[in-house]
Amino acid sequence: MKLPKITGIIRRRILLNYRVEAEVAEALLPGNFRPKLVNGDAVAGVCLIRLEQIRPVGLPKLLGVFLTNGTLSLKCWLKKEIYQNRMKRVNTIRVWSCLSICCCFAFVVGQVHGSEDALTPGRSVFGANQYIEYIPGDFPLIISAPHGGRLKPASIPDRKKGVLLADMGTDLLAMEMVRAFQELTGKTPHVIICHLKRIKLDCNREIGEAAQGNEEAEQAWREFHGFIERARADVIEQSGRGLYIDLHGHGHPELRLELGYLLSNRELKGDDHQVAELERKSSIRKLAEDSKSSFVELLRGDSSLGALMQERGYPSVPSPKLPHAGEAKYFDGGHNTRIYGSRAGGKISAIQVECPGKTVRNSKENRRAFAKAFASAMMEYLQVHQVLDAGE
Ligand SMILES: [Zn+2]
Repeated sequence: MKLPKITGIIRRRILLNYRVEAEVAEALLPGNFRPKLVNGDAVAGVCLIRLEQIRPVGLPKLLGVFLTNGTLSLKCWLKKEIYQNRMKRVNTIRVWSCLSICCCFAFVVGQVHGSEDALTPGRSVFGANQYIEYIPGDFPLIISAPHGGRLKPASIPDRKKGVLLADMGTDLLAMEMVRAFQELTGKTPHVIICHLKRIKLDCNREIGEAAQGNEEAEQAWREFHGFIERARADVIEQSGRGLYIDLHGHGHPELRLELGYLLSNRELKGDDHQVAELERKSSIRKLAEDSKSSFVELLRGDSSLGALMQERGYPSVPSPKLPHAGEAKYFDGGHNTRIYGSRAGGKISAIQVECPGKTVRNSKENRRAFAKAFASAMMEYLQVHQVLDAGE
């Protein structure tokens, strides 16, 4: 197995050596070792080490973690016969007394780990060149906007294949959602925005199609998904479960929300009995397992997200009124919904939210009104389906 390269900083290392009675040390060692004695005593050590910015090579420092570890060690010899057998194999002649093995028994005497840079909910942090923005949250909801970016740096060539059209206004809509949640609840959802225009990078595709071989774009892609992973870890640590929304804009003539659960329009046309069978392949599998409501109720019943948005003036598919999209086009969920939802298990479910332009994205007033309705509907949805505890 090829392990990824890890980089980081040794901030400090404190070594403390002390004497241990030989018999005590001997009793602690495995059979093939005996303590190395100095003036009749064994030598033990304590090493305290602080590592910072630990991360796979290529990721920004911001995504690193820190570790404070303690290690206990005993200086010892490998017993003669074992050593001699090894020496025969490598055909090397040395005097065995030259051999000193520091046999470390890593006892973690105290371990603290966490994010390298303390993040403040609501305060943005950025990846390289400010292409990717992360607004850390304190609420079990993650919203990403992969297609709303406006930046077109000359250093990244235009993508040649795939979908190139941007979802204009979804970057600003995501920001409005932060404000709406803060006003309604005093809490902040985690929000990740790609500010690169889609013709430069598509953060809702795997890296090959997304960045088409450009290193700068690949770095931004890794940051976008690194921030989502960080938000997911935070949500699980804080709440044990959560919901991820991948926010998009569609250009279909029907001015309604298209909520994607990884179920095709053809599948949504099934009756309740047939749709109930699809729970395990949906992106809200975990939500359905935890909720007291049935999967069909969660998907298109009176407490579905579609119903709650419909009540607030935003027609939605699926919902009780529009259980499927009929003969119209419908987006059922893309790359991010697949990888960050609970189809394959995990504690975070996902819904792709595709918004129309005219009634939702295209003016500040519309974005504001929609964000308020969405925050209110989402609070009800998360409470009814037990992602939030009652009264949270
Ligand atoms: Zn999109």
